[in-house]
Amino acid sequence: KPIIIIVVGMAGSGKTTFMHRLVYHTQASNMRGYVINLDPAVMTLPFGANIDIRDTVRYKEVMKNFNLGPNGGIMTSLNLFATKFDEVISVVEKRADQLDYVLVDTPGQIEIFTWSASGAIITEAFAATFPTVIAYVVDTPRSASPATFMSNMLYACSILYKTRLPLVLVFNKVDVAQHQFALEWMEDFEAFLAASESDNSYMSTLNRSLSLVLEEFYKNLRSVGVSAISGAGMDAFFKAVETSAEEYMETYKADMDKRR
Ligand code: GDP
Ligand code: MG
Repeated sequence: KPIIIIVVGMAGSGKTTFMHRLVYHTQASNMRGYVINLDPAVMTLPFGANIDIRDTVRYKEVMKNFNLGPNGGIMTSLNLFATKFDEVISVVEKRADQLDYVLVDTPGQIEIFTWSASGAIITEAFAATFPTVIAYVVDTPRSASPATFMSNMLYACSILYKTRLPLVLVFNKVDVAQHQFALEWMEDFEAFLAASESDNSYMSTLNRSLSLVLEEFYKNLRSVGVSAISGAGMDAFFKAVETSAEEYMETYKADMDKRR
């Protein structure tokens, strides 16, 4: 059975570029990949997709017909697509023996996928059938500020607890800034607090009270540094995905069977 990798992250973190890198890496390493684009608003995809939401839903027409703005248009397009997602699952199931990975790109604005009913339906449809891993892409250079780092980690944290799926933190753009500081902050909360002292006192008080929540969160995930542009860190990423898929089998799958 293939492992499903769902790529999420803040707008501009590099999801689409990272997807492109994943497609390139799987092809170059003789891994058998299947590519799904769930962003209805993307103008041009830098990679070839086996299933593309844009073939089924015309985002511009959805906006016009339902009198919606850009975000409403993306959300409604995703809703329309989600109603037919069982067909996507059966297409993947038919090819399951010939696939190692299914790579899934999501819309630019993270909340459209992670906090919508259709995002949940799509994620659960995958996770009910295949080992599924969330790749949370972080813009490393921009996360060097403690406040941005904290909001990114809280976002990832809420996705982990909402989906209950294994999550890999992908610190992207290490060609611009190494992610060593992030590993240190995750390892040693005092170091993070020391860094956030220089922020205003409200932030450092908030950070202090969040430390216990985040320490627990950090124990539950794997993190890797990558560059979607240079290709650095791809082997470490796929290793983290393999471990996460095993974790899915041991924990998440067992949980789901129990709840059924
Ligand atoms: P998305 O909105 O998350 O899909 O982000 P994109 O993939 O469109 O990337 C946003 C911007 O970040 C683009 O200008 C990319 O060229 C840039 N970018 C993405 N990955 C990397 C990387 O690894 N290194 C650098 N330096 N830039 C990157
Ligand atoms: Mg994108």
